[in-house]
Formats: sequence, structure tokens, C-alpha cells
Amino acid sequence: MSERDPECLFCRIAAGEIPSDRVHEDDDVVGFRDVAPRAPTHVLVIPRRHVSDAQALTDDDAGLLASCFAALRQVADAEGLSRGYRIVANIGPDSGQTVPHLHFHLLGGRQMSWPPG
Ligand code: 5GP
Ligand code: ZN
Repeated sequence: MSERDPECLFCRIAAGEIPSDRVHEDDDVVGFRDVAPRAPTHVLVIPRRHVSDAQALTDDDAGLLASCFAALRQVADAEGLSRGYRIVANIGPDSGQTVPHLHFHLLGGRQMSWPPG
């Protein structure tokens, strides 16, 4: 939880240096609404610790990942997404990842299409 990158946008949001509309926080994880929502509910769940993306996770991060998914579940419940929702993690340029700090998009409140673009 101590490793943070002072230049990283999401590290700064996690630290409260940049304001966000927070919907979840615990010791390991923060959840906040996406500034450019793509669905009625669009929340980003991030570890407080700087991890560049899911490709950089190791076996030691099992607990952190469990915390992320617990937070996602809690946010989905709080948002009333009983009909379902989508969790997306972009990894690298081909995926369209724009912020190099691991984040899970939680999208819900509308019918999703498949395959994604
Ligand atoms: P990516 O494209 O890396 O998977 O997702 C990055 C997401 O972060 C985008 O959906 C974008 O709208 C969101 N985002 C970028 N800058 C900010 C910000 O300053 N505040 C918030 N709340 N969301 C941001
Ligand atoms: Zn970061």
C-alpha cells in the first residue's frame, strides 16, 4: 500500500490529492465514478498501491485482487445492479488502456452489447 507513483493520476486520486466522486474505500482499495461515464453506473475500482495493469500482478497480489472484487461486488449491490453488470480491465495499448494504474471498470444500468468494440 505504500508504493505510489507521484506522477500517476490514479495514485493521486487514491491519495485524495485530486478530487473524485468516491463510492467505496477501504484499506486497500478505492472506488470512484468515472469522469466520462459510458453507462448509468460507471465506477472505477483501483488498488491504493500502484500496479500498472493486470499483467503486472503476481501471486503475492492474490489478497489485493480479492479486495478489488469484494469492492466491485459491494458497489454493484449499492448501485442496485441486480440484473447484472460488466467488469472490464484494459491492459496495454491494443486494449485502449489510457491510465497506467490497474483499474476495474464496473459498468451497469443498461443492456450491454457483445462483443465489445
Ligand atoms: P482506461 O481507458 O485506462 O481503461 O480507463 C481510464 C478511465 O479513467 C476512463 O474511462 C476515463 O474516463 C477515466 N478517467 C480519466 N481521468 C479521470 C479523472 O481525472 N477522474 C475520473 N474520475 N476518471 C478519469
Ligand atoms: Zn498509480
